[in-house]
Amino acid sequence: STVFNNTSALNPEHIPANLPHRENQIKELTVSFKDLIINPGSTSIRTVIVGRTGTGKTVTAKKFGNELKGIANQKGLKLYYVHVNCHRQRTLYLMLMEIAQNLRLPLPNRGLSSQETFKLIYDYLERKNLHLLLTLDEFDYFISTSPIEDIYFLVRIYDELNVSVKRLHYIFIVRELSTLSGLDKSIKDHIIKNIIEFSPYTSSDLYDILQDRIINEKAFKPNAVSDEAIKFISDIHGADKGGSGNARLAIETLELAGKIADTENAPIITVEHAKKANSKINPEMSVITDTIKDLDLHYLLLLKAISSLHKKQGEDFFPMGRVEEEYRTVASLLGEEPRRHTQIFEYIRRLKLMGLILTRHSSKGMRGRTTLISLPIPVSTELEELLDGEIKRRLQ
Ligand code: ADP
Ligand code: MG
Repeated sequence: STVFNNTSALNPEHIPANLPHRENQIKELTVSFKDLIINPGSTSIRTVIVGRTGTGKTVTAKKFGNELKGIANQKGLKLYYVHVNCHRQRTLYLMLMEIAQNLRLPLPNRGLSSQETFKLIYDYLERKNLHLLLTLDEFDYFISTSPIEDIYFLVRIYDELNVSVKRLHYIFIVRELSTLSGLDKSIKDHIIKNIIEFSPYTSSDLYDILQDRIINEKAFKPNAVSDEAIKFISDIHGADKGGSGNARLAIETLELAGKIADTENAPIITVEHAKKANSKINPEMSVITDTIKDLDLHYLLLLKAISSLHKKQGEDFFPMGRVEEEYRTVASLLGEEPRRHTQIFEYIRRLKLMGLILTRHSSKGMRGRTTLISLPIPVSTELEELLDGEIKRRLQ
Protein backbone atom coordinates (compact mmCIF):
# COMPACT_ATOMS: atom_id res chain seq x y z
CA SER A 1 0.00 0.00 0.00
CA THR A 2 1.02 3.61 -0.41
CA VAL A 3 0.17 7.01 1.04
CA PHE A 4 0.65 8.63 -2.38
CA ASN A 5 -2.11 9.34 -4.82
CA ASN A 6 -0.72 11.65 -7.52
CA THR A 7 3.07 11.84 -7.24
CA SER A 8 3.41 14.14 -10.26
CA ALA A 9 1.87 16.92 -8.12
CA LEU A 10 5.08 16.81 -6.05
CA ASN A 11 7.37 17.21 -9.05
CA PRO A 12 9.37 20.49 -8.97
CA GLU A 13 8.19 21.28 -12.52
CA HIS A 14 4.52 20.88 -11.60
CA ILE A 15 2.46 24.06 -11.80
CA PRO A 16 -0.34 23.90 -9.23
CA ALA A 17 -3.73 25.51 -9.84
CA ASN A 18 -3.31 27.76 -6.78
CA LEU A 19 -0.30 29.62 -5.48
CA PRO A 20 -1.15 30.43 -1.86
CA HIS A 21 0.52 33.60 -0.55
CA ARG A 22 1.52 34.82 -3.97
CA GLU A 23 -1.79 36.55 -4.68
CA ASN A 24 -0.26 39.99 -4.13
CA GLN A 25 2.69 39.30 -6.39
CA ILE A 26 0.36 38.09 -9.14
CA LYS A 27 -1.74 41.22 -8.68
CA GLU A 28 1.39 43.37 -9.01
CA LEU A 29 2.37 41.53 -12.16
CA THR A 30 -1.12 42.03 -13.57
CA VAL A 31 -0.89 45.76 -12.91
CA SER A 32 2.54 46.01 -14.56
CA PHE A 33 1.36 44.28 -17.69
CA LYS A 34 -2.02 46.02 -17.89
CA ASP A 35 -0.92 48.21 -20.79
CA LEU A 36 0.00 45.18 -22.83
CA ILE A 37 -3.66 44.16 -22.83
CA ILE A 38 -5.26 47.61 -22.96
CA ASN A 39 -2.88 49.35 -25.28
CA PRO A 40 -0.64 46.72 -26.87
CA GLY A 41 2.55 47.92 -28.51
CA SER A 42 2.64 51.31 -26.80
CA THR A 43 5.57 50.42 -24.55
CA SER A 44 7.96 47.57 -23.92
CA ILE A 45 7.11 46.47 -20.39
CA ARG A 46 9.83 45.34 -18.00
CA THR A 47 9.42 43.96 -14.51
CA VAL A 48 11.93 42.53 -12.07
CA ILE A 49 11.10 39.68 -9.71
CA VAL A 50 13.49 39.38 -6.79
CA GLY A 51 13.66 36.73 -4.08
CA ARG A 52 15.61 33.87 -2.54
CA THR A 53 15.60 30.26 -3.74
CA GLY A 54 12.32 28.44 -3.25
CA THR A 55 10.14 31.54 -2.88
CA GLY A 56 8.05 30.65 -5.93
CA LYS A 57 9.59 33.04 -8.47
CA THR A 58 9.77 30.52 -11.32
CA VAL A 59 6.38 28.93 -10.77
CA THR A 60 4.65 32.29 -10.35
CA ALA A 61 6.18 33.77 -13.51
CA LYS A 62 5.19 30.70 -15.54
CA LYS A 63 1.67 30.68 -14.21
CA PHE A 64 1.24 34.40 -14.70
CA GLY A 65 2.73 34.31 -18.20
CA ASN A 66 0.44 31.55 -19.35
CA GLU A 67 -2.60 33.21 -17.82
CA LEU A 68 -1.76 36.53 -19.43
CA LYS A 69 -1.39 34.74 -22.74
CA GLY A 70 -4.89 33.28 -22.27
CA ILE A 71 -6.38 36.68 -21.47
CA ALA A 72 -4.63 38.30 -24.44
CA ASN A 73 -5.73 35.57 -26.82
CA GLN A 74 -9.32 35.97 -25.69
CA LYS A 75 -9.08 39.61 -26.68
CA GLY A 76 -7.71 38.69 -30.07
CA LEU A 77 -4.17 39.77 -29.17
CA LYS A 78 -1.59 37.19 -30.15
CA LEU A 79 0.79 36.90 -27.21
CA TYR A 80 3.43 34.24 -26.71
CA TYR A 81 5.00 33.42 -23.36
CA VAL A 82 8.58 32.14 -23.36
CA HIS A 83 10.45 31.21 -20.18
CA VAL A 84 14.22 31.10 -20.57
CA ASN A 85 16.45 29.72 -17.83
CA CYS A 86 19.79 31.54 -18.11
CA HIS A 87 21.65 28.59 -16.54
CA ARG A 88 20.45 26.40 -19.36
CA GLN A 89 20.63 28.96 -22.17
CA ARG A 90 23.98 30.33 -21.19
CA THR A 91 24.58 32.90 -23.90
CA LEU A 92 22.62 35.52 -25.77
CA TYR A 93 22.83 33.33 -28.85
CA LEU A 94 21.46 30.21 -27.11
CA MET A 95 18.74 32.33 -25.58
CA LEU A 96 17.67 33.59 -29.00
CA MET A 97 17.72 30.03 -30.38
CA GLU A 98 15.42 28.97 -27.55
CA ILE A 99 13.03 31.83 -28.28
CA ALA A 100 12.95 30.96 -31.99
CA GLN A 101 12.23 27.35 -31.13
CA ASN A 102 9.37 28.31 -28.83
CA LEU A 103 7.90 30.50 -31.56
CA ARG A 104 8.35 27.57 -33.98
CA LEU A 105 10.41 29.82 -36.18
CA PRO A 106 12.87 27.72 -38.20
CA LEU A 107 16.37 29.20 -38.38
CA PRO A 108 18.81 28.59 -41.22
CA ASN A 109 21.58 26.12 -40.50
CA ARG A 110 24.41 28.46 -41.36
CA GLY A 111 25.83 30.21 -38.31
CA LEU A 112 23.98 33.44 -37.70
CA SER A 113 25.12 36.17 -35.38
CA SER A 114 22.96 37.07 -32.40
CA GLN A 115 22.02 40.30 -34.17
CA GLU A 116 20.90 38.44 -37.29
CA THR A 117 18.98 35.91 -35.22
CA PHE A 118 17.23 38.66 -33.34
CA LYS A 119 16.34 40.38 -36.59
CA LEU A 120 14.70 37.16 -37.85
CA ILE A 121 12.73 36.81 -34.62
CA TYR A 122 11.67 40.42 -34.69
CA ASP A 123 10.59 40.29 -38.35
CA TYR A 124 8.59 37.19 -37.55
CA LEU A 125 6.78 38.90 -34.66
CA GLU A 126 6.08 41.83 -36.95
CA ARG A 127 4.90 39.72 -39.89
CA LYS A 128 2.58 37.60 -37.75
CA ASN A 129 1.54 40.51 -35.55
CA LEU A 130 2.69 38.75 -32.37
CA HIS A 131 3.74 39.97 -28.96
CA LEU A 132 6.25 38.15 -26.81
CA LEU A 133 6.50 38.08 -23.03
CA LEU A 134 9.97 36.84 -22.26
CA THR A 135 10.97 35.73 -18.77
CA LEU A 136 14.71 35.61 -18.17
CA ASP A 137 15.03 33.37 -15.13
CA GLU A 138 18.30 33.28 -13.14
CA PHE A 139 19.12 36.56 -14.86
CA ASP A 140 21.84 37.28 -12.24
CA TYR A 141 23.80 34.55 -13.93
CA PHE A 142 23.42 36.03 -17.41
CA ILE A 143 24.63 39.37 -16.08
CA SER A 144 27.72 37.96 -14.42
CA THR A 145 28.76 35.78 -17.36
CA SER A 146 27.84 37.79 -20.45
CA PRO A 147 29.79 40.48 -22.24
CA ILE A 148 28.39 43.90 -21.48
CA GLU A 149 27.46 44.33 -25.18
CA ASP A 150 25.13 41.34 -24.97
CA ILE A 151 23.32 42.67 -21.91
CA TYR A 152 23.11 46.06 -23.56
CA PHE A 153 21.81 44.52 -26.78
CA LEU A 154 19.17 42.53 -24.98
CA VAL A 155 17.69 45.33 -22.93
CA ARG A 156 18.06 48.20 -25.38
CA ILE A 157 16.89 46.53 -28.55
CA TYR A 158 14.08 48.99 -29.14
CA ASP A 159 16.10 52.15 -28.89
CA GLU A 160 18.28 50.91 -31.68
CA LEU A 161 15.47 49.58 -33.82
CA ASN A 162 13.29 52.61 -33.41
CA VAL A 163 10.13 50.65 -34.10
CA SER A 164 6.63 51.97 -33.60
CA VAL A 165 5.10 48.82 -32.13
CA LYS A 166 6.86 47.38 -29.09
CA ARG A 167 6.40 43.64 -29.29
CA LEU A 168 8.88 42.40 -26.71
CA HIS A 169 8.21 42.51 -22.97
CA TYR A 170 10.28 41.19 -20.10
CA ILE A 171 10.20 39.64 -16.68
CA PHE A 172 13.70 39.50 -15.20
CA ILE A 173 14.09 37.07 -12.29
CA VAL A 174 16.99 37.64 -9.91
CA ARG A 175 17.98 36.42 -6.47
CA GLU A 176 19.47 39.71 -5.41
CA LEU A 177 19.00 43.25 -6.61
CA SER A 178 22.66 43.94 -5.97
CA THR A 179 23.49 42.07 -9.20
CA LEU A 180 21.66 44.79 -11.08
CA SER A 181 23.01 47.70 -9.08
CA GLY A 182 26.49 47.08 -10.46
CA LEU A 183 25.28 47.69 -14.01
CA ASP A 184 25.73 50.75 -16.12
CA LYS A 185 23.12 53.37 -15.41
CA SER A 186 21.92 53.31 -19.02
CA ILE A 187 21.19 49.58 -18.75
CA LYS A 188 19.81 49.77 -15.23
CA ASP A 189 17.27 52.38 -16.25
CA HIS A 190 15.96 49.97 -18.85
CA ILE A 191 15.60 47.04 -16.50
CA ILE A 192 14.58 48.44 -13.16
CA LYS A 193 11.22 50.01 -13.82
CA ASN A 194 9.20 47.94 -11.47
CA ILE A 195 10.37 45.56 -8.77
CA ILE A 196 8.25 42.81 -7.23
CA GLU A 197 9.57 41.17 -4.08
CA PHE A 198 9.12 37.52 -3.19
CA SER A 199 9.81 37.18 0.51
CA PRO A 200 10.78 33.87 2.16
CA TYR A 201 7.71 31.93 3.30
CA THR A 202 6.71 31.87 6.95
CA SER A 203 5.72 28.68 8.73
CA SER A 204 2.01 29.35 8.23
CA ASP A 205 2.58 30.18 4.51
CA LEU A 206 4.30 26.82 4.07
CA TYR A 207 1.50 25.09 5.97
CA ASP A 208 -1.00 26.43 3.42
CA ILE A 209 1.24 25.51 0.48
CA LEU A 210 1.62 21.93 1.74
CA GLN A 211 -2.12 21.67 2.46
CA ASP A 212 -2.83 22.83 -1.07
CA ARG A 213 -0.63 20.08 -2.53
CA ILE A 214 -2.31 17.52 -0.31
CA ILE A 215 -5.93 18.55 -0.66
CA ASN A 216 -6.37 20.40 -3.96
CA GLU A 217 -3.59 18.78 -5.94
CA LYS A 218 -4.39 15.39 -4.41
CA ALA A 219 -0.74 14.36 -4.06
CA PHE A 220 -1.68 11.97 -1.24
CA LYS A 221 -4.62 9.74 -0.47
CA PRO A 222 -7.32 11.34 1.68
CA ASN A 223 -6.29 11.59 5.35
CA ALA A 224 -2.89 10.05 4.64
CA VAL A 225 -0.96 12.99 6.10
CA SER A 226 -1.27 13.89 9.76
CA ASP A 227 -1.69 17.53 10.63
CA GLU A 228 1.27 17.37 13.06
CA ALA A 229 3.53 16.20 10.25
CA ILE A 230 2.56 19.19 8.09
CA LYS A 231 3.04 21.53 11.04
CA PHE A 232 6.43 20.04 11.84
CA ILE A 233 7.71 20.47 8.27
CA SER A 234 6.33 24.04 8.05
CA ASP A 235 8.02 24.98 11.31
CA ILE A 236 11.36 23.54 10.24
CA HIS A 237 11.44 25.58 7.03
CA GLY A 238 9.43 28.67 7.96
CA ALA A 239 11.52 31.86 7.79
CA ASP A 240 9.89 33.15 10.98
CA LYS A 241 11.08 30.00 12.78
CA GLY A 242 14.69 30.22 11.67
CA GLY A 243 14.26 28.25 8.42
CA SER A 244 15.07 29.41 4.90
CA GLY A 245 11.45 29.96 3.85
CA ASN A 246 12.03 27.65 0.88
CA ALA A 247 8.86 25.96 -0.39
CA ARG A 248 10.78 23.45 -2.45
CA LEU A 249 12.52 22.07 0.63
CA ALA A 250 9.20 21.80 2.46
CA ILE A 251 7.60 19.88 -0.44
CA GLU A 252 10.63 17.61 -0.79
CA THR A 253 10.59 16.83 2.92
CA LEU A 254 6.92 15.90 2.75
CA GLU A 255 7.55 13.68 -0.26
CA LEU A 256 10.40 11.89 1.50
CA ALA A 257 8.28 11.46 4.63
CA GLY A 258 5.71 9.74 2.40
CA LYS A 259 8.33 7.39 1.01
CA ILE A 260 9.48 6.52 4.51
CA ALA A 261 5.86 5.85 5.59
CA ASP A 262 5.49 3.57 2.57
CA THR A 263 8.58 1.53 3.42
CA GLU A 264 7.16 1.04 6.91
CA ASN A 265 3.78 0.10 5.46
CA ALA A 266 2.22 2.89 7.51
CA PRO A 267 -1.15 4.20 6.26
CA ILE A 268 -0.53 7.73 7.60
CA ILE A 269 2.48 10.04 7.48
CA THR A 270 3.20 10.83 11.12
CA VAL A 271 5.43 13.45 12.69
CA GLU A 272 7.98 10.67 13.24
CA HIS A 273 8.17 10.11 9.47
CA ALA A 274 8.53 13.84 8.97
CA LYS A 275 11.39 13.93 11.49
CA LYS A 276 13.17 11.05 9.79
CA ALA A 277 12.71 12.73 6.41
CA ASN A 278 14.05 15.98 7.76
CA SER A 279 17.21 14.35 9.07
CA LYS A 280 17.85 12.91 5.61
CA ILE A 281 17.16 16.03 3.54
CA ASN A 282 20.33 17.85 2.77
CA PRO A 283 19.30 21.43 1.97
CA GLU A 284 22.54 22.24 0.13
CA MET A 285 22.27 19.11 -2.01
CA SER A 286 18.68 19.90 -2.82
CA VAL A 287 19.56 23.40 -3.98
CA ILE A 288 22.37 22.31 -6.28
CA THR A 289 20.63 19.27 -7.78
CA ASP A 290 18.53 21.32 -10.18
CA THR A 291 21.50 23.31 -11.37
CA ILE A 292 23.49 20.15 -12.02
CA LYS A 293 20.66 18.80 -14.16
CA ASP A 294 21.05 21.78 -16.51
CA LEU A 295 24.80 21.39 -17.06
CA ASP A 296 26.53 20.42 -20.30
CA LEU A 297 28.83 17.40 -20.36
CA HIS A 298 32.17 19.10 -19.73
CA TYR A 299 30.92 21.02 -16.70
CA LEU A 300 29.79 17.68 -15.28
CA LEU A 301 33.17 16.10 -16.05
CA LEU A 302 34.91 18.89 -14.14
CA LEU A 303 32.68 18.31 -11.09
CA LYS A 304 33.29 14.59 -11.41
CA ALA A 305 37.04 15.23 -11.47
CA ILE A 306 36.85 17.20 -8.21
CA SER A 307 34.74 14.53 -6.53
CA SER A 308 37.08 11.73 -7.58
CA LEU A 309 40.12 13.72 -6.40
CA HIS A 310 38.37 14.05 -3.08
CA LYS A 311 37.82 10.30 -2.91
CA LYS A 312 41.41 9.50 -3.83
CA GLN A 313 43.11 12.03 -1.59
CA GLY A 314 40.61 12.76 1.17
CA GLU A 315 41.24 16.49 0.91
CA ASP A 316 38.70 19.19 0.09
CA PHE A 317 40.64 21.80 -1.86
CA PHE A 318 42.75 21.06 -4.93
CA PRO A 319 44.98 23.26 -7.06
CA MET A 320 43.47 24.23 -10.41
CA GLY A 321 46.22 22.32 -12.28
CA ARG A 322 45.47 19.14 -10.40
CA VAL A 323 41.75 19.42 -11.18
CA GLU A 324 42.50 20.02 -14.83
CA GLU A 325 44.74 16.97 -14.96
CA GLU A 326 42.07 14.78 -13.33
CA TYR A 327 39.47 16.21 -15.70
CA ARG A 328 41.57 15.10 -18.68
CA THR A 329 41.77 11.60 -17.23
CA VAL A 330 38.03 11.46 -16.61
CA ALA A 331 37.32 12.76 -20.12
CA SER A 332 39.64 10.33 -21.89
CA LEU A 333 38.26 7.37 -19.92
CA LEU A 334 34.90 8.24 -21.42
CA GLY A 335 36.38 8.72 -24.88
CA GLU A 336 35.73 12.47 -24.81
CA GLU A 337 38.16 15.00 -26.23
CA PRO A 338 39.16 17.23 -23.25
CA ARG A 339 38.57 20.96 -23.66
CA ARG A 340 41.51 23.33 -23.80
CA HIS A 341 42.94 25.19 -20.84
CA THR A 342 41.32 28.57 -21.55
CA GLN A 343 37.93 26.92 -21.97
CA ILE A 344 38.33 25.01 -18.71
CA PHE A 345 39.21 28.25 -16.99
CA GLU A 346 35.94 29.75 -18.21
CA TYR A 347 33.97 26.67 -17.10
CA ILE A 348 35.46 26.95 -13.62
CA ARG A 349 34.50 30.62 -13.48
CA ARG A 350 30.94 29.79 -14.46
CA LEU A 351 30.62 26.85 -12.07
CA LYS A 352 31.68 29.23 -9.34
CA LEU A 353 29.01 31.74 -10.33
CA MET A 354 26.39 28.98 -10.28
CA GLY A 355 27.50 28.13 -6.75
CA LEU A 356 28.67 24.66 -7.78
CA ILE A 357 32.27 25.12 -6.71
CA LEU A 358 34.13 27.16 -4.16
CA THR A 359 37.51 28.69 -4.79
CA ARG A 360 40.15 30.16 -2.54
CA HIS A 361 43.74 31.21 -2.94
CA SER A 362 46.56 29.17 -1.50
CA SER A 363 48.82 30.86 0.97
CA LYS A 364 51.96 32.09 -0.67
CA GLY A 365 54.12 29.08 -1.49
CA MET A 366 57.26 28.65 -3.56
CA ARG A 367 55.41 29.10 -6.80
CA GLY A 368 53.27 32.02 -5.69
CA ARG A 369 49.56 31.90 -5.11
CA THR A 370 47.41 29.37 -6.89
CA THR A 371 43.66 28.96 -7.05
CA LEU A 372 42.31 26.09 -4.97
CA ILE A 373 39.01 24.48 -5.88
CA SER A 374 36.46 22.58 -3.84
CA LEU A 375 32.88 21.37 -4.08
CA PRO A 376 30.38 23.38 -2.01
CA ILE A 377 28.95 20.26 -0.35
CA PRO A 378 30.50 17.06 1.01
CA VAL A 379 31.03 14.30 -1.54
CA SER A 380 28.29 11.73 -0.93
CA THR A 381 27.07 8.65 -2.76
CA GLU A 382 24.00 10.70 -3.67
CA LEU A 383 26.16 13.35 -5.33
CA GLU A 384 28.28 10.78 -7.14
CA GLU A 385 25.21 8.97 -8.43
CA LEU A 386 23.69 12.23 -9.58
CA LEU A 387 26.85 13.19 -11.51
CA ASP A 388 27.30 9.74 -13.02
CA GLY A 389 23.65 9.58 -14.03
CA GLU A 390 23.73 12.98 -15.70
CA ILE A 391 27.04 12.22 -17.47
CA LYS A 392 25.58 8.98 -18.79
CA ARG A 393 22.54 10.84 -20.11
CA ARG A 394 24.71 13.37 -21.95
CA LEU A 395 26.69 10.58 -23.59
CA GLN A 396 23.63 8.73 -24.92
P1 ADP B 1 12.23 29.82 -7.04
O1 ADP B 1 12.14 29.95 -8.53
O2 ADP B 1 11.95 31.11 -6.32
O3 ADP B 1 13.50 29.18 -6.56
P2 ADP B 1 10.15 27.88 -7.44
O4 ADP B 1 9.16 28.67 -8.21
O5 ADP B 1 11.00 26.92 -8.19
O6 ADP B 1 11.06 28.84 -6.55
O7 ADP B 1 9.36 27.11 -6.28
C1 ADP B 1 9.94 26.00 -5.60
C2 ADP B 1 8.91 24.91 -5.40
O8 ADP B 1 7.90 25.34 -4.49
C3 ADP B 1 8.17 24.52 -6.67
O9 ADP B 1 7.87 23.16 -6.61
C4 ADP B 1 6.90 25.35 -6.59
O10 ADP B 1 5.84 24.73 -7.29
C5 ADP B 1 6.63 25.39 -5.11
N1 ADP B 1 5.99 26.64 -4.69
C6 ADP B 1 6.61 27.81 -4.47
N2 ADP B 1 5.74 28.76 -4.08
C7 ADP B 1 4.54 28.16 -4.05
C8 ADP B 1 3.21 28.61 -3.69
N3 ADP B 1 2.99 29.87 -3.31
N4 ADP B 1 2.20 27.73 -3.77
C9 ADP B 1 2.41 26.46 -4.16
N5 ADP B 1 3.62 25.97 -4.50
C10 ADP B 1 4.68 26.81 -4.43
MG1 MG C 1 13.59 29.48 -9.93
